[in-house]
Amino acid sequence: MELRTLNTYGVTKYGGEVFKCGCGKTHELHTKAIYFESGAVSKLPDALELCAPPLSLAFVAVEKSIADKLEPRIDKVISRGGFRVAMHVYNGSPKPDLESVSELKVPEDARIMVGVGGGVIADIVKYKAQQLSLPCVIFSVSPYGVGVMTPSAMLSENRIEQTFRTAPPVAVVCDTELFRAGPNRLAAAAFGGLVSKLTALFDWKSAALINSEYYCEPLFDAALSVIDECLNRVCGGVYDARGVVAGIAEDNLKFSAVCQLTGSSRLTSGAESQCAHALKLLFENEDRKCFLRGENEFLFARIIMKMYKNLLTKCGAFFVPPPDNNLRMELMAEYFGLDEAGIAEKIRPIIAGRAQKLCAYKVGEYRGELYSLACDFDVRLARAWKAFKRLYDDDGFALIDYIDPTDASLCVSLAPDLKEKYTMLTYMKNAGLLEDYLR
Ligand SMILES: [Zn+2]
Repeated sequence: MELRTLNTYGVTKYGGEVFKCGCGKTHELHTKAIYFESGAVSKLPDALELCAPPLSLAFVAVEKSIADKLEPRIDKVISRGGFRVAMHVYNGSPKPDLESVSELKVPEDARIMVGVGGGVIADIVKYKAQQLSLPCVIFSVSPYGVGVMTPSAMLSENRIEQTFRTAPPVAVVCDTELFRAGPNRLAAAAFGGLVSKLTALFDWKSAALINSEYYCEPLFDAALSVIDECLNRVCGGVYDARGVVAGIAEDNLKFSAVCQLTGSSRLTSGAESQCAHALKLLFENEDRKCFLRGENEFLFARIIMKMYKNLLTKCGAFFVPPPDNNLRMELMAEYFGLDEAGIAEKIRPIIAGRAQKLCAYKVGEYRGELYSLACDFDVRLARAWKAFKRLYDDDGFALIDYIDPTDASLCVSLAPDLKEKYTMLTYMKNAGLLEDYLR
C-alpha cells in the first residue's frame, strides 16, 4: 500500500499493512487491529483472539480506580470471551519506572498480556511482555495516546527516564465513551501533547541534517498532516472539549501509528519530552504539583521553538565557552534530587573540536531551511496555544503562574543530559549556548 493513503481512512481500518515508501524502504504496521468505538471493552476477546488460542491465560495489569469504573468488569468480559484471566491491580497510579514493572508477577502459563490504563500502563506492559516474549494488547483509557503503538517503552530507572525497545502491541482497544466522560483537562493534555510533537519533528529533521540520523520525508509529512488535522479539528472556533476529545484521541492514535512505522521512538522523544521529564524531576524534588505530561510538553514546545528560531537567526560567527559538565552534574543533583554517581554514567560527553565544528558548519549550511521550518511550526504552536487554553474550564487561567522563568530555563538547559536522543538542544548544549541559562 502507498504511504499517502495512511491518513485518508479512519483509525479502525489500521492493521498489519506494509507500506511502500518514497524513501526506498518499506514500513510495516505490526499492530493488527484498532478497536475505537463506544463500548469497546466488549471487543477485548476479539483483540485477544488475534494473538492466542481460546482458553489461553491472559494476564491483565490495571489500576484500581480504572478497574472499578469499567462496566462490565474487565475480567468478566475476558472470561466470557473464552479466555482465562489473571490480574494485577495497582492500588494507586503506577509510576513509569522499572519498580512498577517488577510488581507484576506473571504466571508461567500466561500467553498474552493486557494493559488497561493510560500511557504508563501501556509502557509497563509493553516492557514486561517484551521481557517474557509474550504478545500484548493495550486497552487505552487516556486520549493522550501518542506512545501507545510505538515499539518502545519510556520507563525510569533511579528516576532517570530511558527508552527501551519493545514489540508494538498486537491490538489497541479504546472506548470513546470513556474519553467523553473524562475531565476536560485530559482533552487539553491530549491535544497539547500531540501538537508538542512539532518539536520532535523539528528535532528529527535537524538530527538528520546535523547528525546524519536516519530520516524519512514521507513519514515526516504523514506525522505533520496528523497534527494539522488535529489543529483544524480543535481550532475550528467552537471550543467544546467533550465534543472534540474522541477526535483528538483518534488523531493521537494515528500519530502513534506513524511512530510505529518509523521503527523508533524518534517522534515521541523530542526536546519537549526531555524538558517535560526535567520539570517532573524538579517538581517532585521540590514537592510541587506537576501537571499532566501532555500539558507540560506543550508548554515547553512553545518555549523551545522560540529558542530554535532565535538560535537560527543569529548562528554563525560567535564564540561562547564550552559547556561545563561538572556544574551540570551538581545542578542536577541539587534541583532534580538525582544521585551524582547515576548522573555521571548518563551525562553526555561533550562533543568538541572538529566534530563540534562540523555540526556548527552544518547548522550554518541548513540554516535557511531549518529557520523557515521553525517559523512555520511556531505559527502552528501559537494557533494551538489559544485553542489549548479554551479547552480548560477556566480558559487556562491555572497555567499562567505554573512554570516560572527560572524553572523553565533550568529545565531547558539541563534537558539534553536526561535522554539519549539527539535534539537541537543537544547541539545547543555542545555549542555552549545553554550555559547562560544555568547561571
Ligand atoms: Zn520511508
